[in-house]
Amino acid sequence: MEDQLFRTIMGSFATGVTVITTQVDDEIHGMTANAFMSVSLQPKLVAISIGEKAKMLGYINSSKKFAINILAANQKDLSKQFAGQLNSDEVVAFETYQGQPIIKNSLAVISCELFNQLDAGDHTIFIGRVTGLKHEPHEPLLFFGGKYQEIKE
Ligand code: FAD
Ligand code: NAD
Repeated sequence: MEDQLFRTIMGSFATGVTVITTQVDDEIHGMTANAFMSVSLQPKLVAISIGEKAKMLGYINSSKKFAINILAANQKDLSKQFAGQLNSDEVVAFETYQGQPIIKNSLAVISCELFNQLDAGDHTIFIGRVTGLKHEPHEPLLFFGGKYQEIKE
């Protein structure tokens, strides 16, 4: 089965865009991800899927915690920055929430402690137990067909 067909079909499932953030010692690391889902209400669990080549894998294995920053429509450049698609020296301003670095002015933030993890082919699924939830009234950034989109009335 062709990789390109798989990507095309997966890309036809419209998603929001998140940046996963974590900190190991003094180093803050961020990574753009759309493989994110809600898993359980009692207890509150969410899941993310991280590729085997991503540096984020080692960071979460060390920190055992992470935050999921759901991006607002005006944060497309941050998505590109944390996907390694921008050659920018701009310093990203992080805030601290529940002891974790988060991205300012995101639509929502979910802070997590690592609950469980599962090897899944060339990715690792990290399940997080939710330790904090933060929300601001912004429009979402969307990803569909390999392109960024916004909600149009
Ligand atoms: P790097 O490639 O080293 O870091 C990513 C970028 O973030 C670099 O440009 C780095 O300079 C910057 N950065 C990191 N920390 C900071 C900081 N503190 N301050 C400023 N800049 C910083 N991959 C997946 O595994 N799972 C997914 O669900 C997923 N979804 C994606 C969705 C979209 C819409 C896109 C565009 C990409 C997605 N990717 C996903 C791919 C993933 O974002 C890239 O492969 C990413 O480069 C992997 O990051 P890394 O952890 O290897 O670190
Ligand atoms: P794309 O057209 O490559 O991706 C479309 C969809 O395919 C994505 O939304 C995702 O659901 C799926 N997909 C893509 N690469 C995947 C991978 N390696 N493993 C599992 N699923 C994958 O989108 P794009 O704009 O060209 O993406 C930019 C870069 O980010 C590419 O290198 C892509 O591989 C990577 N990416 C990775 C994931 C992921 O690992 N889950 C998700 C999205 C994008």
